[in-house]
Amino acid sequence: MEALLEGLDPEQRAAVEAPRGPVCVLAGAGTGKTRTITHRIAYLCQRGHVAPSQVLAVTFTKRAAGEMRTRLRSLDVHGAQAVTFHAAASRQLRYFWPRVIGGPRWELVDQKIRVVGRAASRLGLPTEADALRDLTGEIEWAKSSLLTPDAYPAAASRAARDIPAPAEQIMKLYAMYEQLKNEAQLLDFDDLLLHTAAALEDNAEVAQEFRDRYRCFVVDEYQDVTPLQQRVLDAWLGGRDDLTVVGDANQTIYSFAGASPQPLLNFARRFPEAVVVRLERDYRSTPQVVALANDVIKWARGRPAGSRLNLIGQRPDGPAPRFHEFDDEPAEADSVARRIKTLLDDGVAASEIAILYRVNAQSEVYEQALASHGIPYLVRGGERFFERAEVRQAMIALRAAGEVSGSLPEVVRSVLGRVGLTDDPPTGGSARERWESLLALVELAEEFVAAVPGADLPRFCAELDVRAEAQHPPTVEGVTLASLHASKGLEWDAVFLVGLVEGTMPIQYADGDESKVEEERRLLYVGVTRAREHLWLSWALSRAAGGRKYRRRSRFLYSLVPENHPAARVSAGAGRPPLMKKEKPTCRVCAATLVEAQSVKLGRCKSCPSDVDEELLESLRQWRAARARELKVPAYVVFTDA
Ligand code: ATP
Ligand code: MG
Repeated sequence: MEALLEGLDPEQRAAVEAPRGPVCVLAGAGTGKTRTITHRIAYLCQRGHVAPSQVLAVTFTKRAAGEMRTRLRSLDVHGAQAVTFHAAASRQLRYFWPRVIGGPRWELVDQKIRVVGRAASRLGLPTEADALRDLTGEIEWAKSSLLTPDAYPAAASRAARDIPAPAEQIMKLYAMYEQLKNEAQLLDFDDLLLHTAAALEDNAEVAQEFRDRYRCFVVDEYQDVTPLQQRVLDAWLGGRDDLTVVGDANQTIYSFAGASPQPLLNFARRFPEAVVVRLERDYRSTPQVVALANDVIKWARGRPAGSRLNLIGQRPDGPAPRFHEFDDEPAEADSVARRIKTLLDDGVAASEIAILYRVNAQSEVYEQALASHGIPYLVRGGERFFERAEVRQAMIALRAAGEVSGSLPEVVRSVLGRVGLTDDPPTGGSARERWESLLALVELAEEFVAAVPGADLPRFCAELDVRAEAQHPPTVEGVTLASLHASKGLEWDAVFLVGLVEGTMPIQYADGDESKVEEERRLLYVGVTRAREHLWLSWALSRAAGGRKYRRRSRFLYSLVPENHPAARVSAGAGRPPLMKKEKPTCRVCAATLVEAQSVKLGRCKSCPSDVDEELLESLRQWRAARARELKVPAYVVFTDA
């Protein structure tokens, strides 16, 4: 027993030893919340207060649930359930189904988007894949928020949702989706939760049996609970209060999906007799990483009371976090891969290294860089680039294109135009990710033609095949590539936070919406706090090598890169506003960089019209100049720990 308590600080110990009843641990990242709850479960079991089989511990992702199970095993606790909300509900429903619903057991909706597509076509609404994905997200939000179709429009407007279609249309679509699903006797994941809650609420016999079975409830990452999950939790409790929750309001990163930290922050009000513990000591990261994490979150706006926790690093000093700026993404990725190589040579295990990014489409360039350095990797929480549906579809389209009018990048762009590569990026999350993947293929074409002048489409397709092949088979042990969302609750010795530019971090559609920007900031906080020792933050001012699309580094970096930092060193390019960095002749109409001698002579792209009204051109020039001024950034320094 003492051994179990030995590795705990006094506050953690207070939470572990608290008598059965409501316990709330409100604490920052890396302070030992997950450790505390797993020790608490072990403690209660060892003391005989509860049998492992009576414990139900839940969290939100499979990986986080797996992490809990591993830790419980290492504490010699066997037989306690540590699963996701959905897995718990699915298991219970399977058991209660014959009594509460009867008839054949449910089938899960295989591809929700297809059912939404059928519902949309019945209603004569657009059925284009991107639109459907965003609409599916809205239906999920409504169900997670316990909204019926009728209640959706008013609630969406109250929540100021950035909705992909008029609310009335979404309401009808949601109702039709439910109808089609019921007709086919299908359930989606949210239905599993709804039916579980209803079974316990409405059937006294089932509820009693359940209550005899489970007596002790634990929730990790409670800041991300949705109203639907909270309803299930309340149904599980059935008026009892043997509930331990842990969470960090600063790590709420699913509010777009209906999650809210309020149940965590209001826990003590709901259970006045609760043992509430705050943890401030950070055991995960070096003081250098902890200081940076505190800096990221101290600028957060609208932080609810109870979330203002300052982390105090407990580990010995480590290297200063490194900030690096690059001209383009391939250079950024190559540098990350080289740095990883050095870490591997120094004895850091590949599984102790992670590259974290905001959107899954960013993985491609890192997959290439790691593969070219022979570094094993695995992609978490997203598909590998060449396995993504839109990339596979694009490759089929490219192969089928045959003989086509222009330069390789132009050809690729025009073929991909047929599979969804619009000129302007879509605003929706998933649509934007697919658009980014397609754009990444055009950029690969740009790179390829620069390396192999005169390369044609068949050669490019062959190159893509080679690259796709190089990504197989998936490795089991390697450097982790993951989105920031997928990284929550996990930790690595070395973390590379890449692509920290405006439009990606914060994501473009968050711009101008303070609450969304704040959620992006919390995502950055989650990312920073994953690192135990080595932390690298980087960004590239253009996407493709030699590209002209200059981007600004993320707004979040300004407050993190103080010029008087002792480790700061002025970089060669410091102080030069990105927009002025490379002055190449540009088209007077569309402002694209001109490469071909003939276009340079004409002063415009060959494809741009020669007869554009001078007045219009002048107003365009003024608009661009204003935008350039707006984009200028003050002089800055780049840290290195050299
Ligand atoms: P997150 O908010 O990211 O989920 P957390 O609060 O759940 O973080 P843990 O993952 O439980 O934090 O702990 C972070 C790290 O610190 C783990 O490696 C854990 O083993 C270690 N740790 C926690 N408490 C202590 C302690 N008292 N002594 C030594 N190490 C500890
Ligand atoms: Mg945790």
